[in-house]
Amino acid sequence: RQSYNIAVVGSGGIGKSAITIRFIQSRFTDEYDPTIEDSYRKQLTVDNAKYTIDILDTAGQEEYYMMREQYMRNCDGFLLVYSISSMQSYDELLNFYHQILRVKEVEYIPIVVIGNKSDLESERQVSFKEGEQMGCNISGPFFETSAKYGLNIDVAFQSLVRLLRDN
Ligand code: GDP
Ligand code: MG
Repeated sequence: RQSYNIAVVGSGGIGKSAITIRFIQSRFTDEYDPTIEDSYRKQLTVDNAKYTIDILDTAGQEEYYMMREQYMRNCDGFLLVYSISSMQSYDELLNFYHQILRVKEVEYIPIVVIGNKSDLESERQVSFKEGEQMGCNISGPFFETSAKYGLNIDVAFQSLVRLLRDN
């Protein structure tokens, strides 16, 4: 199979859209409407094989538990994102994770954990170790990224594609 649906999931304001736009268009958007939910398609090559991935940049429904279930059902893999400058966004990740498992009715689902805004070192509330711990808890790779500077964005998506491929 060469085509996957991926959702970018996490609290509001942590950079889901910035990560998606950075990956799709190789640029940084400083002002992106927080209510816009959109999907994007990208072809990428991982380990010499070509994949088409459809990326859903989720938005505005972080609070609406029920509404999330539909897109979760339709997705094969997830980028679970928090911001290193928000402990609250980190704490909320496990809620997303458990909901995904419940909705998908599986015990394992390909997930990559992302601590975004790694450029905001002076505002850091979540340590690198805590990020690694989250990756450990949900058995997924962990990356700190900066959508602003394009750090680790591509490798995070590639890592998720590898998990999907091997699943
Ligand atoms: P979303 O609600 O999760 O989609 O968050 P957005 O992508 O709209 O980003 C929210 C705010 O954080 C915007 O002002 C972005 O410019 C900013 N932002 C997103 N990613 C980064 C990053 O990696 N570094 C910094 N410094 N700011 C970021
Ligand atoms: Mg957004």
